Amino acid sequence: MPLFNISAFLIVKLRKPVNNKLMDFEKIKTLLAGQPYYRYLQAQKAIYRDTVSSWQSATALPKKIRDLLEQEAPIEFDFETVKSVDRSTLKALLKMGDGLVVETVLLRHTTRAGQRNTVCVSSQAGCPMGCIFCRTAKAGYERNLTSSEIEGQVLFFKYFLKNSGARVSNVVYMGMGEPFLNYSNVISSIRVLNDREKFDIGARKISVSTCGIPDKIEKLASENLQVNLAVSLNAATDKLRSSLMPVNSKYPLKMLMDSVRKYIGKTNRRVMFEYIMIEGINDGAQQAEELALLLKEILCFVNLIPFNGTGKLKSPQEDVIKKFRSVLEKKGIAVTQRHSYGQDISAACGQLVYSNKK
Ligand code: SAH
Repeated sequence: MPLFNISAFLIVKLRKPVNNKLMDFEKIKTLLAGQPYYRYLQAQKAIYRDTVSSWQSATALPKKIRDLLEQEAPIEFDFETVKSVDRSTLKALLKMGDGLVVETVLLRHTTRAGQRNTVCVSSQAGCPMGCIFCRTAKAGYERNLTSSEIEGQVLFFKYFLKNSGARVSNVVYMGMGEPFLNYSNVISSIRVLNDREKFDIGARKISVSTCGIPDKIEKLASENLQVNLAVSLNAATDKLRSSLMPVNSKYPLKMLMDSVRKYIGKTNRRVMFEYIMIEGINDGAQQAEELALLLKEILCFVNLIPFNGTGKLKSPQEDVIKKFRSVLEKKGIAVTQRHSYGQDISAACGQLVYSNKK
């Protein structure tokens, strides 16, 4: 019995919009502008709390308003495909209002705390950062996503999971794009995800991953949000990091680590450093020593990500990763290792792309 009953879902919930009018809360606000504000709140509740499949089921609203919403902002998602290969990962290609297709991923996993359903959202269509190991970078950059386009990715999976009685428990901004180049839309989408009247996803269940943009790391610290910060480090020296991630030439490690120290000083929150392991490039014991030194006395943990993908770069053998990990642990640094989900459907880290089919 697959975890995802996709075919049933496609029929019940994902009718392709007939008139290409997509639901968007900004639009609903405009449509209901002449109405008392509580009508807007009722519409909001119908979507976020009741997850109604059609506006006609939002019976708190008068028939005239239901008809208007049905006509102008139908509850339908425009999608290209939904693929699930390994039972735990599902990738959706969602079409935005202008025809851009953006990939978003749902990861289902069981932890000691129970079943987790994590949505990995994209914050941009494509990415301009040019990290050499990342497939998204090769696809180029199109534009920032709006706050509702980011929320829409979570809403899509909220509807998807509703059929099985499950809910989205976690959201990670680790899909396409650099969230801190789209800072204000990302923050406003986080507030919507966190809002008790909307998605009601605890801030601690939301993680934002950045390639390391110091002023935005500091800005996040002053947002008064309890979200988790993840920094894609991948190397502990400027020379190596700049060769993997062009952003490092602009914001070298000293600047990056200073901003992280300020962030921790202000929030007292533990930071996750992501470290992709690439065979023969950044996986040596000496490099683990350098990493331990860089992270000395910083409230953090390291998340090792075996490299995903094909081509010249490869993931190291398991024993090399183990050795690297033990060097860090001996220096008192906590380490976790990321399980790679969805490689067979190109849904793993650094494998998301977009297409421009306007
Ligand atoms: N721009 C943000 C978020 C997107 S990338 C950032 O850089 O953090 C999300 C994570 O996937 C990052 O930690 C990135 O380093 C990692 N990643 C990218 N390409 C990868 C690959 N080929 N294999 C494994 N992880 C990869």
